[in-house]
Amino acid sequence: MTYTAPTAEQRFVLDTIADLPGLAVLPGFDGATPDMVDAILGEAAKLSANDFAPLNGPGDKAGARLANDVVTLPPGFADAYARYVEGGWAGLGAKPVFGGQGLPFVVACAVQEQLTSANMAFSLCMMLSQGAIEALQGHASLELQETYLTRLITGEWTGTMNLTEPQAGSDVGALRTRATVHADGTYRLEGSKIYITWGEHDCAANIVHLVLARLPDAPPGTKGLSLFLAPKFLPDANGDFTVRNDLRAVGLERKLGIHASPTCTMAFGEHDQCIAFLVGAEGGGMRGMFTMMNHARINVGLQGVAIAERSYQGALAFARDRVQSAKFGAGGAPVRIIEHADVRRMLMTMKATTEAARALTYFTAAAVDRAHAANEAANDAVPDAAAAGRADLLTPVTKAWCTDSGVEMASLGIQVFGGMGFVEETGAAQHLRDARIAPIYEGTNGIQALDLVGRKLGMDGGAHWRTLFAEIRQDIRDLPPRGDLAMLKPYLDDALAALESATVWLTGNRDAAALTDTAAGATPYLRMFGITVGGWLLARQAVAASERIARGEGDAAFLRAKIVTARFFAEQIVPQATALLGPVTRGADLLFAIPEAGLAA
Ligand SMILES: Cc1cc2nc3c(=O)[nH]c(=O)nc-3n(C[C@H](O)[C@H](O)[C@H](O)COP(=O)(O)OP(=O)(O)OC[C@H]3O[C@@H](n4cnc5c(N)ncnc54)[C@H](O)[C@@H]3O)c2cc1C
Repeated sequence: MTYTAPTAEQRFVLDTIADLPGLAVLPGFDGATPDMVDAILGEAAKLSANDFAPLNGPGDKAGARLANDVVTLPPGFADAYARYVEGGWAGLGAKPVFGGQGLPFVVACAVQEQLTSANMAFSLCMMLSQGAIEALQGHASLELQETYLTRLITGEWTGTMNLTEPQAGSDVGALRTRATVHADGTYRLEGSKIYITWGEHDCAANIVHLVLARLPDAPPGTKGLSLFLAPKFLPDANGDFTVRNDLRAVGLERKLGIHASPTCTMAFGEHDQCIAFLVGAEGGGMRGMFTMMNHARINVGLQGVAIAERSYQGALAFARDRVQSAKFGAGGAPVRIIEHADVRRMLMTMKATTEAARALTYFTAAAVDRAHAANEAANDAVPDAAAAGRADLLTPVTKAWCTDSGVEMASLGIQVFGGMGFVEETGAAQHLRDARIAPIYEGTNGIQALDLVGRKLGMDGGAHWRTLFAEIRQDIRDLPPRGDLAMLKPYLDDALAALESATVWLTGNRDAAALTDTAAGATPYLRMFGITVGGWLLARQAVAASERIARGEGDAAFLRAKIVTARFFAEQIVPQATALLGPVTRGADLLFAIPEAGLAA
C-alpha cells in the first residue's frame, strides 16, 4: 500500500489552526515563510513516500535482529537513514546556534507526521533523537552540547530515552539504576533498563543514551533522580569516537507491532566502566526528562494522527475499488463498496477524526512554539504563561485522545477492508498492530488522564481551562446564524456545557474519597475533552474555509469538504462528548462494589 502525504491538508491546518503566519513573526521563527514551509512539506513528502514507506511492510515482516551485541535492521533502513541525514531533516526544529534550522516545532511535527505515516517503527528513531535534542538544548553543559548535541542535530548520531525498569514503569520514581561520581567529574552507571526504543541499531555511528539514575544518598522517589548522558562510543586519544562504553543491548523484545523498532533491554556498567556525564543538576533529572517527555508526548499523539491517516488512505483506496453487493433496497448490479452508506459512515468517521486529531496536535505544538518564542525573546526571564499553560493543559489530551483515535481508526480501517483487512496482505492489519503501542508508552493514557484531572486542570487556579473554554464559547457565539456553519452550534454548545460541568465537578472533589471519584472519571473526561476541542478546531477550519470560498481563494472542493467534515464530526461524534458527562461524574462506587475476590468468580 502506498502513502501520499496530505500536504494541502497539513498546510491548511498549519495556517488556520497553528496560525503559522503569526508564528513566523515571533523571535527566532523568521525562517518559517510560506514558501519555505511549502518546500519543506513537499520534500518531506518525497522522502516519506520514496524512502520510508517502501520499508514499512518489509520492516514489519523481518523485524530487527540482535546478535553479538549488535542490532541489525532489515536491508534498506541504514540507507534510508543516510538520506534523512543528507537532507538535514534531523535539525529542522533545533536551535541554529548548534547547527539547527530553528523552525517552529509545529513545522517539524508536520514532517514527523509524514515520516510516521510512512513507517511508524522507523520514525521512532527520529522521534527519540528529537526528544534528546530538546533535553540537551535545555539542560546540558556547553561542552556536552558542542560534543553530542551538534551530532544529534546533524543526525550523524541518534538518541534514546532510558527510564523504564522492570519495577519502574508508570512509577518512574521506583527506578534503581545507580550513578556514582568520579574524581574527574564523570559518573559511572550501573543497572539495567527495559523497553528502550532504538537502544541499539546499525543505522548511525553512535548512540547517545539519556539515562535516569539515582546517586548514592539521593532521596527516594522522583526527587532523587538525576539525568545522565552515556554514549555508546567514547572518544579515543585522537578525539575519534571509537572506544566502546560499558553498555550494551542484552535483549530485544518480540512484540505485537512496530517490529522494525528495536525495543532493547540495556545493561549499563556490567564491568563498572559505564562512563556518563551529568545533564543539568544532581537531583534535577525529572526536569530534563520532562522536557524530553513533553516533546515526545505530543509526538506520540502525532503517531495516532499519522496511523489514522495511513489507515484512512488505505481504506479509501480499497473502498473505491472493491465491488460487492447491490445498494441497500435498490437491487440490481453490485456496486463499489464506497457507495454503501455504512462504508461511507466508516470513511467519514476516519476522515473527520483524523482531521480533528491533527488539528489538536498542531494546535498544542504551536502553543509550545509560542511559549518558547517568548522565552527566547525574554532571555528565559518572562515566559508566555498563557501559551505555556495551554500547552501543559493540552499535552495529555493530545497524547491520549489522538493515540486512542489512532487505534480506533486503524481498527475501523480493517473493517472497511472486510476479511482483506484481517489477513496481513493489505497492510491494514499492520497499522492496527503498530498503533496499539501508542496509548501505552510515554505515560499510559490512564496516566495522561490522571495528569489532566490531577495536575493540569488545577494549574494557576484553573486559569488555563477557563481561558480555553471562554475562547471556544466565543467562537461558537460568532458562528453565523444561518447555513452550514450555524448547524455546528447546538452540538458544540451542548458538549462545551457538559465539559464545563464535568470540569467543575472534578475540580471540586477534594477529600480522599472524592479524589477516588475524580480518578474514576479521568479517562472518560479526557475523551470528552479531546472530542470537544477537536470539534471546535474543525469548526474553526470550517469558518476559515467558508471565508476563503467567499473570497474565491483556494481549492473550492477541498474547502467545501472542510465544512462538511466539521458538520459530520459535530453531528456524529461530538454528541458522544455530551453523553460522557454522566459516566465522568458517577464516581467510583460501582468500580469497587464487587469485592476483588468476586471479580474472579
Ligand atoms: C514498545 C515499547 C517501547 C518503549 N520505549 C521506551 C523507551 O524508549 N524508554 C523508556 O524508558 N520506556 C519505554 N517503554 C516503556 C513504557 O513507557 C512503559 O511500558 C509505560 O510507561 C507503562 O509502564 P509499564 O509497562 O510498567 O506498565 P504499568 O506501569 O505496570 O501499568 C500497567 C497498567 O496499570 C495502570 N496504572 C499504573 N499506575 C497507575 C496509577 N497510578 N493509576 C492508575 N492506573 C495506573 C497503567 O495505566 C496500565 O494500564 C516502552 C514500552 C514499549 C512496550
